[in-house]
Amino acid sequence: MIEEQKYWNPVLETLPQEKIRDLQLKKFKRIFNWTYEKSKFHRSLYEKAGVKPEDIRSFDDIRHIPTVEKSMMRDIQRKDPFPYGDTLCIPLDEVSEYHQTSGTTGQPVYQADSWQDWEWWSECWSYILWAQGYRPSDRIFFPFGYNVFVAFWAAHYAAEKIGAEVVPGGVLDTQARILKIQETNATAMMATPTYVLGMAETAKNKMGIDPASLTINKITCAGEPGASIPTTKNRMQNVWGAKVYDHAGATEIGAWCYECAEQSGALHVNEGFFLVEIQDIETGEYIEEAGRMGKMIITALDRYAQPCIRFDSKDLIMWSSCPCSCGRSFRTIKGGVIGRADDITKVKGVLLAPSAIEEVVRGIHGLGDEFEVIVDKKEDIDRITLRVELMPNSLDKEDSIRAKLKDQLRLKTNLGYIIEFHGYGTLPRHEVKAKRFNDIRKKTSN
Ligand SMILES: [Zn+2]
Repeated sequence: MIEEQKYWNPVLETLPQEKIRDLQLKKFKRIFNWTYEKSKFHRSLYEKAGVKPEDIRSFDDIRHIPTVEKSMMRDIQRKDPFPYGDTLCIPLDEVSEYHQTSGTTGQPVYQADSWQDWEWWSECWSYILWAQGYRPSDRIFFPFGYNVFVAFWAAHYAAEKIGAEVVPGGVLDTQARILKIQETNATAMMATPTYVLGMAETAKNKMGIDPASLTINKITCAGEPGASIPTTKNRMQNVWGAKVYDHAGATEIGAWCYECAEQSGALHVNEGFFLVEIQDIETGEYIEEAGRMGKMIITALDRYAQPCIRFDSKDLIMWSSCPCSCGRSFRTIKGGVIGRADDITKVKGVLLAPSAIEEVVRGIHGLGDEFEVIVDKKEDIDRITLRVELMPNSLDKEDSIRAKLKDQLRLKTNLGYIIEFHGYGTLPRHEVKAKRFNDIRKKTSN
């Protein structure tokens, strides 16, 4: 019977918005009190700003609480209680989970979770899995390294929690993982978009296996925005013959948002467990209306060991306007996480988001999945080079593809590009998160 149940939590996921807001305010006060009492780091931040728990009565009061940035976390870590430092709110011997950020943008941040918080992680992931059609009858393959990266660990526990069967694909290489899917008839898997496409390429080119002939019928992505970029999502869905779903989460935050089976192009914020605020990057104004982009300030309302209160995530998001046809009352964000405030860069005075380039490249027939962008300077003028791979069956179409790329890139990003064609399979391949955007202007300025 549980197979037919539409929502993981039928009460919370359909609660009217005003009741969700009441719940959020109540939970916010509780986690703020706790953190004020237990975390030396937060206490001193709030004392400096003159904010006390009794001051918090409304959402407007919440907006006056100082935000926390990743760089602040780095400064206090590797100190006692080692290695978490002054944000740890529980005795060290109650910590049961260690994870850390990937460190792609600097020194990693260490994250402690108690068993209670770890159960909360798997509960958050259960909402994601259920909304995407995962049921007890699924056999889910996990082709990831089972190291310090938190997302799929939590997904693994949630898969067990909802009653599905888990096939861990830890130390296997890509070919062995494809064979394992074939051997077990796994129905679903989880990976970064880069790896979803990489696995398909290995299956086709090195093993002569058509990924669509395998039994995978749904894939959940994490770590990169690809599953919400329509052209990248289409590539993944077509090559695997499977539904591809997005979700967003972070080590310091939790799994805070998810696409549902409607695939409307927007993702639900799990508002029962998280408070999301969107702030205009330039004016600092808070954005309530749909369609206006800003950076996300987020609070995990139920995470206690190492709390996440008004964390300035630098993720760029925007509210979406329509209620979702799935019936969930949690608000949605359009296009998932659009980019990061750090990645948005000015080229020739124009703001450029790397995801816009990905959307164009992945939408053009005849190009491979990999690409690279290099921004440098020639005689003080910014220059963007886009390296793409031409598929072997499109070698005679170089000129028309070049023209199409230039047109669409101009339309999407208002910038001109130097296009370089490379042979199929010659650009670097990535296992987890790809670094395709390289801004080397500081190094090359002359
Ligand atoms: Zn929905």
